[in-house]
Amino acid sequence: MIVKFLGTGSAWQIPEYSCHCRICQTMRQLGELRTRTAIFVQTGQENILIDCGPDIKWQMNTCHIPRPDAVLITHEHGDHYLGLDDLLSFRRSVNAAVWTPIPVYASAETFKQIDLRFGYLFPDTLEKRLVEPGAGLLGLKTSVVPIRTFHGQTATGSLGYVLTEVGPQGRIFRLAYTSDFSKITGQTEFLSQIDLFIIQSNWLHEPLENRPNHMSLQNALEYIKEWRPKRVYLIHISDQDRVTGDPWNELPKKYPAKAPLAHPVTGRPYPVPTCQVEWQSLADQISQDFNLGIPVTVTYDGLTVDSNTI
Ligand SMILES: [Zn+2]
Ligand SMILES: [Zn+2]
Repeated sequence: MIVKFLGTGSAWQIPEYSCHCRICQTMRQLGELRTRTAIFVQTGQENILIDCGPDIKWQMNTCHIPRPDAVLITHEHGDHYLGLDDLLSFRRSVNAAVWTPIPVYASAETFKQIDLRFGYLFPDTLEKRLVEPGAGLLGLKTSVVPIRTFHGQTATGSLGYVLTEVGPQGRIFRLAYTSDFSKITGQTEFLSQIDLFIIQSNWLHEPLENRPNHMSLQNALEYIKEWRPKRVYLIHISDQDRVTGDPWNELPKKYPAKAPLAHPVTGRPYPVPTCQVEWQSLADQISQDFNLGIPVTVTYDGLTVDSNTI
């Protein structure tokens, strides 16, 4: 299984346009960009795109992805489905006689929004496939099971996906992708045998008020300790933590921390990272300080992971 991280940022990309906060300024100076989170998975049997946000055309151009055999949408927020129209490029570039619609999988609640915006894409360009949480997806060679997640009242169709590939010599490789969520409300039995756990880290510190229901690294640590995946990959990183001394901390998107994530022995809060290098060294430090024994990778746009090498 090869996983390409097409985008690794939160809903409006970071650095965010017109934002002068410490995080956005630092990233701009370093030339860093996190586009809207999406991944492309090549299982050996098929190509699966998970989420298709407004940056998908840019991501297709920079990552050179082929036509997906299936698209899995996690939920009905714009940063996760507003790029579906760009998949028309695949149809427009082949002879009509050989075109078959690309299957799109999502929950009934999520399809209510997709239908409103992109009804014209169905059934000729895309094919609608409704997903039932807990039931394996039909029509795919790869085993994919959706898991119900809680992401607030404006995304009641929110799902995570668990992909299982049986490789050479019967080796089983399992990937769990959880996207935007604050709690897992569906079955969790698969989650104790995960090789590659892709989890949102919208904040470092769990905010005082978690609205609209995202995962912080502080909160994710509890899930990581509970399920003990072989490896963790952090996605959907935002600029919403408050950085000490930043005059832009009062922006409404900057959420104060409830009780900052702190070193387990010294009690000293971890500083909020502003760029990729700081994020990765913090993730390494936290993994060590909490004796996780699990490598935690902070993803970046274009990162490719091959399951044979982990
Ligand atoms: Zn999102
Ligand atoms: Zn969302």
